[in-house]
Amino acid sequence: MMYDLIVIGGGPAGLTAAVYARRAGKTVLVIEKNTFGGQITWSPRVENFPGFASVSGAELGDLMTNQAMDQGAEVELEEVTGIRVDGDVKTVLCESGAEYQARAVILASGARPRPLGVAREEELVGSGVNYCAVCDGAFYAGLPVAVVGGGNSALQDAMLLSETCSKVYLIHRRDSFRGEQKLADALAQKENVELVLNARVAALLGDEAVTGVTVEQNGATRDIPVEGVFVAVGHQPDNGAFANLIALDGAGYADAAEDCLTVTPGLFVAGDCRKKTVRQLTTAVADGAVAALAACRYLDA
Ligand code: NAP
Repeated sequence: MMYDLIVIGGGPAGLTAAVYARRAGKTVLVIEKNTFGGQITWSPRVENFPGFASVSGAELGDLMTNQAMDQGAEVELEEVTGIRVDGDVKTVLCESGAEYQARAVILASGARPRPLGVAREEELVGSGVNYCAVCDGAFYAGLPVAVVGGGNSALQDAMLLSETCSKVYLIHRRDSFRGEQKLADALAQKENVELVLNARVAALLGDEAVTGVTVEQNGATRDIPVEGVFVAVGHQPDNGAFANLIALDGAGYADAAEDCLTVTPGLFVAGDCRKKTVRQLTTAVADGAVAALAACRYLDA
């Protein structure tokens, strides 16, 4: 089947695009490689999305996914490895060998957690090194853990983990947080949270599994015993597979403006994979709408 539109990425940007395109009467397939709802499903609480005073990210992700499906969007769980463009036809290639075709494609592939860059990090993933407190926090109930980072993700992760872990060390490289002051203030009130500021993780301790971290702080080193390390030092895009069709900036983000257009006619980008200054749920859904309407104009031309 030839779809009008294929959306690559089932996060808030992609799902919003699907809703808009379906409401314009287009046939739509959304392809997601991991979790429909995207990164937001990792947020324990979302309190800054208009209309929802407080909602879990997983619930919001489900609501968005169901809304897109109720509007008639089709969904597939597949990992996309590239896009082949033959004239007006775009063929989306998947790791499984499956191929899907459409006349327009919106790339809304988001971003993935950035590694901390400390020795043995990759080897210890699943043995103490984690990137998602919502997904893996329960494994550390009653145990001491460290969260590394100073943005909203790190603050939220530390808050969530403090509910079940015996102790949470929040390790940040500066003495002020990038994340919301309200969250930082709430954390400072927690008796089992210790802020380790102006500090850098120099090493992961433990042979088979993490038993602690070595931290460099104000010229001294200190070993902190923890069973888990939650890395929350930001995100990076995953646009490499599309570099032949879209311009990328130095950091790998799709170099497209607010209009979400790319250098390839019929290919659009939306959400966190696009170069932008503010990456929020609200800006992702805004991109989804803009990209979908641009795709509809392209299809109707
Ligand atoms: P972020 O805001 O980019 O923060 C990344 C943090 O990691 C910064 O504090 C940064 O330190 C630190 N960092 C970066 N590289 C590091 C390294 N190599 N070693 C040690 N620390 C390092 O990322 P984020 O927290 O993942 O958030 C991403 C976006 O999502 C943001 O716009 C955020 O507001 C948004 N978000 C919103 C919510 C919400 O509910 N409102 C929740 C989660 C995320 P510096 O501060 O020194 O640069």
